Amino acid sequence: MTSRRTFLKITGGAFALVLGLGEAAKILPRTALLRPPGGQDENAFIARCLRCDRCRSVCPTAVIGLANLADGILDARTPVMKFHLGYCNFCNQCVAVCPTQALKPFDRETVKIGLATVKKDICIAWDASGCTVCMNACPYQAILLDGQGRPSVDPQKCNGCGICEKVCPALVMRSYIGGNVRGIVVTPIATRGEGRV
Ligand code: SF4
Ligand code: SF4
Ligand code: SF4
Repeated sequence: MTSRRTFLKITGGAFALVLGLGEAAKILPRTALLRPPGGQDENAFIARCLRCDRCRSVCPTAVIGLANLADGILDARTPVMKFHLGYCNFCNQCVAVCPTQALKPFDRETVKIGLATVKKDICIAWDASGCTVCMNACPYQAILLDGQGRPSVDPQKCNGCGICEKVCPALVMRSYIGGNVRGIVVTPIATRGEGRV
C-alpha cells in the first residue's frame, strides 16, 4: 500500500511540472537537505538548480554528493553535502562554476551550511573518555569539552564545515553500528540537530 508521503512524492512531480520547481517547493512536504555553501535559500536553490553536476565535479574535497529519489522528486540529482566523505573549506569553486547562481556568492565569515551536533549515544568520549579528535580538527574552535572531556558544539561558532563528522572515529571504533554513523553530525539549521542518526 502506498504511504501518504510516497504518494505526495510521486504526485509532486506533476505539481512541479504545472507550477514550476520554485513554487512547488513552497507547497510540497520536503526533507531539509544540506546544500553546498550559497545554496541555503532552499526555494531559490531548487528553482534554479539545473542538476548539471558541475559543482560536484569541481569540489576539491569531494564532499558534494547527489540526492536521490528517496529524498523527494524535486530533490533527485541535486547536490547535497556528504560529510562522511569530505568537508567544506569554503573555497568557492562550486559557486564559481554554477551557471544559474543556484549557489549564490557567500560571505565566508557568516555563511552556515548547517550545525554540528554531538550524538551522545554514539560519541566515544560521552560513553567512555579519551577522544578529542573532532575538537582538534575544528578550524573554528566551535567544539568545547566539559570537565569530563565530553564534547559539545558552540552554535555561534559552528558554520557546518563538516570536518568534525569527516574525522570522527566512532564508526571505526563501533563498526558493528555500520553505515556512515558518526559521533557528531551536521544537520540543516532548520532541523536543530534532529533528523539524522
Ligand atoms: S566551497 Fe569548495 S569545498 Fe565547499 S562544497 Fe564548494 S567546492 Fe566543495
Ligand atoms: S571525534 Fe567523534 S567520538 Fe571523538 S569526541 Fe568527537 S564526536 Fe566523540
Ligand atoms: S562543523 Fe564541526 S568542525 Fe566545522 S565548525 Fe562546526 S563543530 Fe567545527
